[in-house]
Amino acid sequence: MSIPADYHLHSCHSGDSEAPVRDMITRAISLGLDQMCFTEHMDMNYPYGSHLAPGTFHLDTDSYMKDFQTCRSAFDGRIGLHFGIELGLQPQIADRNSRYIRTYPFEFVIASTHVCNGKDPYYPDYYKGRSTESAIREFFECTLENVITFHDYDVYGHLDYIVRYLPKDAAPFSVTPYFDLVDEILHRIVAGGKGLDLNTKALYSGLAEPNPCTDILKRYYEIGGRILTFGSDAHSPENIARGFDSAREIALSCGFTRYCTFENRTPVFHTL
Ligand SMILES: [Zn+2]
Ligand SMILES: [Zn+2]
Repeated sequence: MSIPADYHLHSCHSGDSEAPVRDMITRAISLGLDQMCFTEHMDMNYPYGSHLAPGTFHLDTDSYMKDFQTCRSAFDGRIGLHFGIELGLQPQIADRNSRYIRTYPFEFVIASTHVCNGKDPYYPDYYKGRSTESAIREFFECTLENVITFHDYDVYGHLDYIVRYLPKDAAPFSVTPYFDLVDEILHRIVAGGKGLDLNTKALYSGLAEPNPCTDILKRYYEIGGRILTFGSDAHSPENIARGFDSAREIALSCGFTRYCTFENRTPVFHTL
């Protein structure tokens, strides 16, 4: 395995996965991973509408922690297991999110924009009645507001998440029209000593680029960004570490020579 550490993983503790933690771990061991970090969804104030049952993305953190600790003991010495979280940010709940992070002994925190002004770009409704460009601009504006209002994270998750879900007839994504916003987001991430999640889900879902895309990765590197974790965003065992070989090549082509794992919220660098 080219990158033996997957730092973006979901199990049945996330509302959109049915995979038992043990099955995820067994698969990671069979792939030869040294380390894996579970990052279950916690999206407070998620706008459920009619799409999903209320509370789907509200994590039962105590139950997750208990299951995780049992598994960590059971698999002791076979793989490094880390207790993480993928926290959905929204500016109006920044304080609540910070309090939540301090309540549990998380070893790694991904911050993600899943909701913009009360809507999830995953759903077609987000794009209705406007240009794709204005929809994307709003997504990056929300992300900028999130990095301004929230600081208790380690890496930003799938920074251009919206690209995965653009309408079928949309022009191919280019960062150029949003460069002003993306550049400010990246500067704030670097200045805050935070990093990026190189997320391979788009790669194995048939898209040409990972999240974020190579232009964003290159710019991040250019302005001094070095903290980079690899994450498959797998919600089932077969997707663990999927796309990591291509993602490693992409990271190298963007200038990176190292990637990170985390130990108790602190990055540890490894050669790519
Ligand atoms: Zn996410
Ligand atoms: Zn995720």
